[in-house]
Amino acid sequence: MRITAVDPILLQGSQTYHASASGTEATDNGDWQLIIKVSTNEGLTGWADVETLGPAAVAIIAGQGMAILGFKTLGELLVGENPLDTERLWDKLYIGSAYYGRRGIAMQCLSALDNALWSIRAQATGVPIATLLGGRRHDRVLAYASTLFRETPEGMADAARAYVERGFRAVKFGWGVFGQDPGRDRELVAAAREALGPERHLLVDPGWYPAGWTRPGPMRSLRENIALCEWLADYDVGWVEDFIHPEHFAEYATVRAHSPVPVAAGEQVATHWEFERFIGDGCVDVIQPDLSRCGGLTVARRVAQMAHDAGIDLVPHSWLTHLLTGYSLQLIATLPRARFVEFNVSQSALTRGIAPARFTLEADGCIAIPDSVDMGVRVDEDFIAAHRVN
Ligand SMILES: [Mg+2]
Repeated sequence: MRITAVDPILLQGSQTYHASASGTEATDNGDWQLIIKVSTNEGLTGWADVETLGPAAVAIIAGQGMAILGFKTLGELLVGENPLDTERLWDKLYIGSAYYGRRGIAMQCLSALDNALWSIRAQATGVPIATLLGGRRHDRVLAYASTLFRETPEGMADAARAYVERGFRAVKFGWGVFGQDPGRDRELVAAAREALGPERHLLVDPGWYPAGWTRPGPMRSLRENIALCEWLADYDVGWVEDFIHPEHFAEYATVRAHSPVPVAAGEQVATHWEFERFIGDGCVDVIQPDLSRCGGLTVARRVAQMAHDAGIDLVPHSWLTHLLTGYSLQLIATLPRARFVEFNVSQSALTRGIAPARFTLEADGCIAIPDSVDMGVRVDEDFIAAHRVN
């Protein structure tokens, strides 16, 4: 089997990232979304979503490459290759783009391509990805509703109650207005905890940009980050996530050592070399590789082993289309300890339309992990054609 085409598909929608004051559902990136399609001469195709700057990613995959190694496009590196050679092709993509790549957009595209190759491998062998990765240890996993902070305590309480009514036993609120007003931050978390009751998990993602993402201001200091963890413990928060500058490994380790609340992070970390340092430095209790950014399943499977050896949990970051949820569930099925799947309840019309999925929330708040080569996800090619702009 040979790869015949690598197609970056840029889609445009009409919604923007948004969280309201009320309980009304928030919206993830609804203006632009990139997905990639890898085609083969045997009719198998692999699809994956990418969280990146789409127009630049299109150039990295299908633009004009240069003759010298390190300046190749990812597409020219893959066409003609055997898609089943996932490990070898990961190295080829990394080296072939190393001069301009290694992290950022190139690594995000490499991640998506790697996931798509795993999908082709599953289809070619008739064996689900989880089995290819080493075998299913879990058939189901607790889902947490993943959304943005609402602007008022009433909005937080309304939103939290709505998730409880839908059957969720865990909810994560992130970003939005959090960090702009310490008094209000506390009221927002308190309202969520009260509405969820003591039995359900409340996870908090304060964001690491200065003072939330809507207003410039200083970043929290190390002491302020410790103080944040201390007051979040008052509300029995299950973890505090990704709240420190992603390059400040030493600060993560220090805050974790002092925090009464488990520290979760890793969605900004990429390549197994960086995960080795991040986990080895003792930065987190919960490592959160994002399969569309970290280097794909080829890297994430190694991170799973590192996490197990370090005695910490792995919960993939997955806040995009259900293609990413599907790939994440396949990895989760293989973990020695499967705590949660992140379930994006804030999908825009664009992220929701690309990949309808058969995931259903069961009465106990769990999702069954599909044991099929399609991961329980269907790519809607008519929707994609209708929203494609390149
Ligand atoms: Mg996060």
